[in-house]
Amino acid sequence: MTQSNDPAKTKRILILGGTAEARALANALTARGEDVTTSLAGRTSSPALPKGKIRSGGFGGADGLARYMRDAAITHMIDATHPFAARISANAVAAAQAARIPLLRLERPAWTAPEGADWIAVPDMAAAAASLPEGARAFLTIGRQDLAAFHDVRDGTIVARVIEPPEAVPSGWTIIAERGPFTLANERAVLKAHAITHLVTKNSGGPHMAAKLDAARELGVAVVMIARPVLPDAETVATVEAAFDWVSTVSPSRVV
Ligand code: NAP
Repeated sequence: MTQSNDPAKTKRILILGGTAEARALANALTARGEDVTTSLAGRTSSPALPKGKIRSGGFGGADGLARYMRDAAITHMIDATHPFAARISANAVAAAQAARIPLLRLERPAWTAPEGADWIAVPDMAAAAASLPEGARAFLTIGRQDLAAFHDVRDGTIVARVIEPPEAVPSGWTIIAERGPFTLANERAVLKAHAITHLVTKNSGGPHMAAKLDAARELGVAVVMIARPVLPDAETVATVEAAFDWVSTVSPSRVV
């Protein structure tokens, strides 16, 4: 238990979550006796939940997030959202400045192309869709929100894997509704079953979803890797352990 009796020294930690790393960090800090609240966007109907307190739904922009943190007397904010969750990460930077609360970004390293791999890097979803050659059989592992960028792919076959099925997709698409992580055997099987020629993925990074890249390499499937959005500068670490240590080293009264 690390909480102090002095209210000025009590840590109240807000984790912006929705990732495996956010859950691991919340679990570790809670186990140490810290006061942790994880914030989720509230998009998934049955999200995997960490220990500690949970709040769900948007804050109403950077101003709302700053207000929330002042009202809840938050002393430390950790942005452990997905590398493609660019709006909330930008809001975190602005809100930390406005509310004068220390912010750490926990960001897993990006994937890099292994030597000789059949990868192309593209800047965004539209470029990924445009990169697919005629007759491609594409496996989209980009989530649900960005599928529209591929609606106009006419001369190819689309198989999309999502956690929760989208309301409407073009006719002829195959939707696989499954939550990861996935084993190498699973990824091999899905690529083979649909005779996939192109794997389209965000550069999420980290080990949890990396098996699809290994399976693609083995089977000679081309990878279309969508680059991460550029985020405003923030103090950043790459591991849960480093974020855990940061909470220990930053005192509640530190002002950014
Ligand atoms: P986004 O585009 O950056 O955020 C859109 C809005 O959703 C934000 O402005 C904020 O609303 C709200 N929001 C996002 N994350 C939130 C959080 N953790 N707590 C409270 N409000 C949040 O985010 P997104 O890409 O839609 O991702 C939403 C959530 O899914 C994130 O928690 C992220 O970690 C997780 N996730 C995203 C991806 C991905 O590929 N984008 C993949 C896996 C998990 P207000 O402005 O009203 O505060």
